Amino acid sequence: MSINGKTRVCAIIGDPVEHSLSPVMHNAAFQKLGLNLVYVAFKVTKDGLKDAISGARSLGLRGLNVTMPHKNAVIYYLDEVDSTAKTIGAVNTILNNQEKLVGYNTDGKGAMIALQENGISTEEKKMLLLGAGGAAKAIAFQAAQEVEELVIVNRTSEKAEQLAKMLGKNFGNKVNGRKLSDEVLKQELETTDILVNATSVGMHPSVNSSPVPSDLLHSDLCVMDIIYNPLETKLAKDAKAVGAKVVSGLDMLLYQGAVAFEIWTNCPAPVDVMKKAALDKLAEQGDIH
Ligand code: NAP
Repeated sequence: MSINGKTRVCAIIGDPVEHSLSPVMHNAAFQKLGLNLVYVAFKVTKDGLKDAISGARSLGLRGLNVTMPHKNAVIYYLDEVDSTAKTIGAVNTILNNQEKLVGYNTDGKGAMIALQENGISTEEKKMLLLGAGGAAKAIAFQAAQEVEELVIVNRTSEKAEQLAKMLGKNFGNKVNGRKLSDEVLKQELETTDILVNATSVGMHPSVNSSPVPSDLLHSDLCVMDIIYNPLETKLAKDAKAVGAKVVSGLDMLLYQGAVAFEIWTNCPAPVDVMKKAALDKLAEQGDIH
């Protein structure tokens, strides 16, 4: 990589960010396409967000990824927010377009592309989405436009119900929100085609937890666990064991990154190169805890 006076900078901001896979993925992609861009990670605390965005503006950064805890709050410091990110109330990608900072949310698209790329069509399918947090909201927004039926279940049922109501208004009545329980999972899973875990249950260090009892899983399911730390969650292992098709959270991470890359560069993202860089980094670190 040759850095010179014309190199533009992209970055991820969040806290923590030191284990992020985004720098290796994007730098590999910039190099592959010979783009004069470089990607770094900045740890930005909650109190530092306003100054960080102002700094990104002054320094002429080309783009930012935004991760926890800033996905919601960052909206207040942007010049424009695209309609998807506005509806979700969260931004994970910013483009500096001639000094105007524009916010996007690529998580939902990333999740849907990950399914497609694994040969899973969402058309005329029933999706059961676990969770109603930031990532779940983004996925629900995208999924509600594609699937036949969407059921959102969450520990805090009000959040699932509110999200379902909001999506129902936008996309019709095929979205329902329910409280997460084994009984509800049992009922819903019998007729579910695609199960997506967007809760944090099963994430490191609770690697032996799963949001779904293993005896409720069946071989007709496609299961995507969006957690990528660990790379293979207990839910993913249980799903594989019953013969279900499994999509890794790393694929969603990859494709949300690919969509961000395309927003910054207007070039198709070299996803194979990005995936290899992420997997090499994981192998080097022995996972990402
Ligand atoms: P978040 O906004 O904090 O939401 C967390 C969700 O998990 C909420 O629905 C919460 O339910 C639920 N939850 C937490 N603990 C639970 C428990 N013990 N039992 C049942 N439900 C529980 O987090 P997020 O940003 O959406 O992230 C969720 C997960 O997705 C994280 O593991 C994150 O790393 C991963 N993620 C992956 C990608 C990717 O590209 N692959 C992108 C974004 C996020 P309540 O509402 O009841 O609290």
